[in-house]
Amino acid sequence: MKYALVLVNIKGLGVKTFSYLIPPEMSEIIQIGQAVLVPFGRQGLINAFVVGFSDYLPEGIKAKKINRILDPTPLFSIKYLKLLEWVANYYCTDFVTVLNAAIPMKLIEKNSKTEQSVTLIKEDFTGLTKRQKEILELLKEEGKISLTYFEEKAKTTRATMKKLADSGYVKFELEYIYRNPLTIFKDVKIEPLYELSSEQQEVYEGIKSKMRSQNPILLHGVTASGKTEVYFKLIKDVIDSGKNVLFLAPEIALASQLTKRLARKFGINDVAIWHSSISDGEKYDVWQRLYNNEIKILAGARSAVFAPLQNIGLIIIDEEHEGAYKQTNPAPRYDARVVARRLAQFHQAPLLLGSATPDVSTYYYALNNNNLFQMLKRYNNAPLAKPEVINMQEYGKAAYRGIISKPLQTEIKTAVENGNQAILLMNRRGYSTYTQCKSCGTVIECPDCSIPMVWHSSVKKLKCHYCNKEMSFPDYCPVCGSDALSNSGSGTQKIEVLVKELFPEYRIERIDSDILTKKNAHIELLNKFQKGDIDVLVGTQMIAKGLDNPNVTLVGVISADTGFSVPDFRASERGFQLLTQVAGRAGRGEYKGKVLFQTYNPDYYAFQTAKSQNYEKFFETEIKARQEFDYPPFSQIIRLILSSLNNYRAEKSAMEIALRLNTMTEKFGFTEYLETLGPTPCIIAKINGFYRFQILIKNKLSQKGHDFVSRFLDKITLPKDIKLAIDVDPLDIL
Ligand code: ADP
Ligand code: ZN
Ligand code: ZN
Repeated sequence: MKYALVLVNIKGLGVKTFSYLIPPEMSEIIQIGQAVLVPFGRQGLINAFVVGFSDYLPEGIKAKKINRILDPTPLFSIKYLKLLEWVANYYCTDFVTVLNAAIPMKLIEKNSKTEQSVTLIKEDFTGLTKRQKEILELLKEEGKISLTYFEEKAKTTRATMKKLADSGYVKFELEYIYRNPLTIFKDVKIEPLYELSSEQQEVYEGIKSKMRSQNPILLHGVTASGKTEVYFKLIKDVIDSGKNVLFLAPEIALASQLTKRLARKFGINDVAIWHSSISDGEKYDVWQRLYNNEIKILAGARSAVFAPLQNIGLIIIDEEHEGAYKQTNPAPRYDARVVARRLAQFHQAPLLLGSATPDVSTYYYALNNNNLFQMLKRYNNAPLAKPEVINMQEYGKAAYRGIISKPLQTEIKTAVENGNQAILLMNRRGYSTYTQCKSCGTVIECPDCSIPMVWHSSVKKLKCHYCNKEMSFPDYCPVCGSDALSNSGSGTQKIEVLVKELFPEYRIERIDSDILTKKNAHIELLNKFQKGDIDVLVGTQMIAKGLDNPNVTLVGVISADTGFSVPDFRASERGFQLLTQVAGRAGRGEYKGKVLFQTYNPDYYAFQTAKSQNYEKFFETEIKARQEFDYPPFSQIIRLILSSLNNYRAEKSAMEIALRLNTMTEKFGFTEYLETLGPTPCIIAKINGFYRFQILIKNKLSQKGHDFVSRFLDKITLPKDIKLAIDVDPLDIL
């Protein structure tokens, strides 16, 4: 091959591929995945990655020569590129976009980091000061270690270390050292695996018998049934057989918790963590260690599905129903579960999905493929708390400010006075939900988005939850000029205030995404809660996940209807999942738990099944509705959103595309595979000033249909003022 296709990351241009000439002396050693140095315009020599070869150049291009191969060890393989290509194709996006998301591009800019190490070279410490001896004793224990890391550990300075080097006690070397990112591994003590209970053992053996399955395996286990313990047994078998394990959790905090738990069971040297917030340096190190097959278990969030783990023997995705596995913006809008499935096939490894409230589609497929395993009892038979329903049509009037019912007040009091803790879920942040003029009924909307602004009492501002625009509370109604503006509805901030009014002596805190502006605030509050330093925790769905606190005896859901009423085909599923998950936080320890759902719609079916925490019953009703309306899993949805600052132009281009798609579908005989709906204005008709129109394509689960749409979309060219977002398997259609 004469030319190499290389990937570069240019400021302002993003990631792009270019062709370069391969000099004869490199032709034998150049490989896909290597880092190279190439000349690039006025920027001189820049770093790049080899991603392909060819004998020809695109017309009219003159190729420059590759300057040098920076590192002969490639950072990724052809197989890896094949996976990314598949992802690009599945999500109807281009390869470079996927590459950009998958490979930490800073790897191109900064190359392998060399660092100074320090070692002890003279062990006779006579004549040194007590402090110097202390430092050297510590170094003796450490062996060879990163200099900066050691300085931190020994609480000493570079000057002191230099003095010791000058007098021949220690030596510095420049070399490649992994930055061990795992400060979270501090104080990790190794523990043995638990003996499985008989229910767990049965499930474990069942899953073992499916390890060659090409289809995902589902472990449906109620909260605290011990799914994690089953995963650990399987992991042990896989790493004992010499293979590696990828383990995904839906978010960074959960991935960190999980990594610690894994390190306790399997040792810190074999475990690593990967997510979007570890530093580039750390990423580079983990990347190298993965590539060199030095890591046996990689835990991480969504993006870890793209980490180059070698020789995979098992992929586990815990809490698989979580929306966080899907990237919604920007493209590629990939779902880590879908990518993991493909990855598993590449490695001929099984994919194990786990949840207490599985995705309806996952459950449907697992059931049909005979790959479903269930653990419907908690470990040690601790009873699941049975939610009680508080019908607010009856109790609303006597409730505190119409919001916190008498029974809920009593239960909060009982929990805290017995020395236990309570969780209150309100799945909406802010103080109120909208601001309205009492004279003319006008609701204050964001000027750029077609949704109401939400009052935030903590910062005394109205905020838009879509574009983050803030404004102060208006003095007069913008329509009729009346000054009778007031806030209605409730969010977490209001609940926090009300509970503090009711129980001024209790320790009350709030967790929602508004506190995330402070780094780690969320984790700190959760730790504080875990330690028992908070009596009542108020929060959004962020508190429904992962909390395993045996001292929680009360879970109160302020407004259990929120969520079910969203106009989306997954609304019931999401509502069911949230209520079941949050109910699962109660009574995990020796004390019995109580769960109260406040609602105005006690008869709604999804609500009824959430109340009995009966997944199967929920599934049976839900799957019928999906089938009737041809929603997933009975079809694949490809959603197109056309948006523009100009309402009319957005609509016009959406209409043109829908028309062309329909014409082509008919002309090429694809009507039996594809159905097109729309265009219609999106339910959220405007975001950030952009008017939005959507076209929904329902593909009747055929590869042919998908390929046809993909080719169609490839050929679309749009005027500059129109944006097209393609979302395959969208999370919602709002
Ligand atoms: P899940 O992942 O299903 O929510 P976990 O695996 O976290 O459940 O288990 C819940 C609790 O029960 C944990 O504290 C766990 O250590 C404990 N547990 C589960 N199975 C066993 C077992 N076989 N032996 C001892 N403890 C167990
Ligand atoms: Zn008005
Ligand atoms: Zn807005």
